Amino acid sequence: MCVLGESRLEGYHGLAYRKLVEAGVNVGDTVEVSFGDESFVGRLMPRVESDDDSVVTIKLPNGYNIGLSVVDASVRLVSPAGGLHQQPPVEEAVGFGAGEYVALISTGGTIASRVEYETGAVRPALRASDLMSLVPELEGISRLKTQVLMSILSEDMKPAYWERIARAVYSELEAGAAGVVVAHGTDTMGYTAAALSFALRGVDRPIVLVGSQRSSDRPSSDAYTNLLCAVKFAKESFRPGVYVCMHASTSDPTCAVIPGVKVRKMHTSRRDAFKAVNTRPVAFVDRDKLVFLDESSKGYVVGGGVVFKPGFSDKAALIEYYPGFSLDILNWLAEKGYLGVVLAGTGLGHVSSELVDGIARLRRSGFLIYMTSQCLYGRVNMNVYTTGRRLLAAGVVPLGDMLPETAYVKLSWALANYPLEEVDGVMRSNLVGELSARSVYSGEWT
Ligand code: ASP
Repeated sequence: MCVLGESRLEGYHGLAYRKLVEAGVNVGDTVEVSFGDESFVGRLMPRVESDDDSVVTIKLPNGYNIGLSVVDASVRLVSPAGGLHQQPPVEEAVGFGAGEYVALISTGGTIASRVEYETGAVRPALRASDLMSLVPELEGISRLKTQVLMSILSEDMKPAYWERIARAVYSELEAGAAGVVVAHGTDTMGYTAAALSFALRGVDRPIVLVGSQRSSDRPSSDAYTNLLCAVKFAKESFRPGVYVCMHASTSDPTCAVIPGVKVRKMHTSRRDAFKAVNTRPVAFVDRDKLVFLDESSKGYVVGGGVVFKPGFSDKAALIEYYPGFSLDILNWLAEKGYLGVVLAGTGLGHVSSELVDGIARLRRSGFLIYMTSQCLYGRVNMNVYTTGRRLLAAGVVPLGDMLPETAYVKLSWALANYPLEEVDGVMRSNLVGELSARSVYSGEWT
């Protein structure tokens, strides 16, 4: 489907539109906007909803978008698009051979959002193909097949949606994609990355989740770099597994690729909010290169193939312990039909010793209880203090260095795919790298 073809000045009106038409410029062309002595050269981007029709948006060579008022500026065509319109992004992969393309599935989030200028609110509204038009350089990396699976902010994600995403990813892999990129809101991207890791265990190609902290129509958006890096990794890495690809630091154009079961959003707004916890990124990517931190794991793993189990239960819970925590909360969960809980306990894996008897009763009734640490870095060790030992005796299952969120997703997945009596064994096993024998400190917290 032709995306930009119908409108070659998509989103432009008024003064900006007139000046662009006079200069013979279309979206995708390289333009120069001059203000006397000062001038800016970049690619003209589509304008995504604005209350100011004198502004044009151009993408500078460093990847950043800037908005420029053309009231006192002249606009000049430097060079035409060179293929952006002639070969627009496609939404159907008609004629694509197996392995020739990356499938880009959009679920929403800031990366697929625009700002509503009337209200200032950010809404998921962009098509996956609009994302591609923001990053013309993608043409040089891979052919892309795009689809919008859902348009939600990731705080609205739920286990049933993880299943939908897993099914969509699986069918793209079955159809022959070299890799799959999932555009996703950053708030709960780590949960979905973990969900896909379990649902598609043994996958033989890269599945890369990508988001942005600033919406793609803001000049400071990180969407451009993140998407470019994610597609590059999906097409060129041949590294099986599920990853999150986001800015590696606040300023440079490099992204870190982090295992989907060991990643966490650690900052509300910084571009480099995503960190590898108890491990290291597997690679760093920028537009020119892909550097693996672990060369030995580069390339396809020859294995038993993907074990596709896309179901997730909504009868799992995740609770952070705090001083004053009442057993009523756990009792309530059991009464309401929840089958198990992951606790993010203190330090090495503790809750108040006053809860131990109640926890033992719940366990005897069949309610499952797992222990992770709210410290995040390091691992639980419930043999050190008396409280830990008593909790173990009460039937609490320690989960090593597994992140609380990953443990919660795994519990939801295990409850949907295994008989209840097997769930403890599944939770204790390392299936996709979520539970390491030895923790690697990434150093982010020092
Ligand atoms: N609340 C947004 C979301 O997670 C934030 C973002 O995408 O960065 O969907």
